[in-house]
Order: sequence, then C-alpha cells, then structure tokens
Amino acid sequence: MNIFNQHSILNDFIDQNQTVGLVPTMGALHKGHMSLIERALNENDQVIVTVFVNPTQFEDLNDLKKYPKNLYDDVKMIEKVSPKIIIYAPESNDLYESSIISSSYEFGDIENIMEGNIRVGHFQGVATIVEKLLTLLLPTNAYFGEKDFQQLLIIKSLVVQKKISTAIIGCPIYRDNNGLALSSRNSFLSESEKNKAPFIFEQLKIARSLWGIESAKTIIKRIKNSFLSNHNFKLDYFEIRFENNLLNAEKKSEKKVRAFIAAKLGKIRLIDNLALDEF
Ligand code: AMP
Repeated sequence: MNIFNQHSILNDFIDQNQTVGLVPTMGALHKGHMSLIERALNENDQVIVTVFVNPTQFEDLNDLKKYPKNLYDDVKMIEKVSPKIIIYAPESNDLYESSIISSSYEFGDIENIMEGNIRVGHFQGVATIVEKLLTLLLPTNAYFGEKDFQQLLIIKSLVVQKKISTAIIGCPIYRDNNGLALSSRNSFLSESEKNKAPFIFEQLKIARSLWGIESAKTIIKRIKNSFLSNHNFKLDYFEIRFENNLLNAEKKSEKKVRAFIAAKLGKIRLIDNLALDEF
C-alpha cells in the first residue's frame, strides 16, 4: 500500500497529468466511506483517501478524544478494494503549522442552522481542513457524502469563494438493511441501541410519505410528537428545507426538499436526512 504522512512526499508521488479523486475521511472506515472510495476509483486514474481526525471541527474536546481510531483496520479495508489507492494519514503538524485553529469564512445562513447552530464553529473547522486538503493535493474531483448534507453545501460554497477548481461530488447515503445510516459513531451504540436506531429513518420515511399531502409545519409537529413519545431519543432538530439553499420549505407542493434530523440515542448523537420528493 502507498501510505504517506507528509503531503510534500505524497505530492511527489502523484502524477498530476492524470485525474486524481480525493476522499477525505476521519477514519474508522465503514461501507459508507467505501461507497465514496469505489465511486472515486471508477471516475479517476488515482485515488487518495485521507484519514485525519481534524481537531478544529470538534467543538467538544471530549468528543475529539473519544473519536474512534484504527488506522490498521482502515488500511486493510482500503487494500481489499484496491492496493493502488493512496492513503494520506498525517499528524496535525503536517496540516496545521504553528497553531491548530480554524481560518475564518463567511457562509451566511447555511452555516448557522441545524448542525452549525448546535455545533458552533464546526463548519469553520470543516472548511479549514477541506481548503487545506484541496489546495495542497489539487484533486480533480473530491467526494463527500450526502449523509452530511449541510457540510456538502458548505464545501460547495467554499470552492466557489476560494476559486478552487476541484469538482465537488455528493454521494448518496449508505444504509444498513434496517435503514440506519452508517456512521463511525454507530460503533459506540450498544446492541439494544442498534436495534432502536432505525427509528430515525422510519420517521424520515413517514415525513416523505406525508409530503405533498400535509404542510411542512404539520409534518414537523407530527414527527416531533413521535419523538416526544419515544423516550429512547432526545431530538435536537427535525426540519424540512430546500436542498439548494437550506431555506425552510413550507408548502406541500414544493420540490427538491429534504427532511433533516439529529437526535441523541443514549449518549450517541445521530444525524440523517432524506429527500422528500424522490422515491
Ligand atoms: P467522516 O469520516 O465521518 O468525516 O466521513 C467522511 C465522508 O464520508 C464524509 O463526506 C461523509 O459524509 C461520508 N459518509 C459518512 N457516512 C456515510 C454514509 N453512511 N453514506 C455515505 N457517505 C458517508
């Protein structure tokens, strides 16, 4: 395997005359990540997977300390797909020189709602690391999951603002058979919590079945009530918004809308979303 922990050495290894697909991850890889990696392999001559738990996007130090890390397993998983994949797994000092702080960006309203409202500063940290990776590695295409839909819009805005030529490609959410969206954090769920977790996707599907029949306001009320009567979960938010600008959708006839959800199951915070007008 080609594993690098310094971007300068990695850059010498990359053939800039060929297309390069980048898949940024924080490791603890699962099939969701692998779906991005496989798409990148299909669409590029070379694929770089980055494994880096970016400290500036954690607003809670405890969360950062506990984040699952297992580079050995990650490498094995990637190797199985293709030994040609290039892995970049740096220490912080290869990306942050003197101090580990976020740069400052202006994303307007898409930043301060939902995840940005609860995790203050999170998207500044995400934008900081993604800008560093894109400008250091100059990929042709970079792949991000719709699982983090708000993040995907932030990154699309980032490349426009910074005039970065990399194409940002959104990839569908990979789910377990029971509907649970895969996440590195699912490894913290107990067996009994894993059985309860699909409730989130069930609620999203209920919202989808009601879209076009009831207003956003009525659907939101219904779903919030379902969470109130399920004591396993503590709902952070359930919102229905337009996919392109994340403004609130209201009328039932509206198109290109998504329901977004974040809820705590025990100590673990889960997020998910679903397009309401696609079947
Ligand atoms: P993370 O390691 O959690 O930062 O995720 C790295 C990338 O994988 C991000 O672009 C995520 O949106 C994406 N991702 C994580 N889970 C999934 C999933 N279940 N399906 C599709 N993409 C995912």
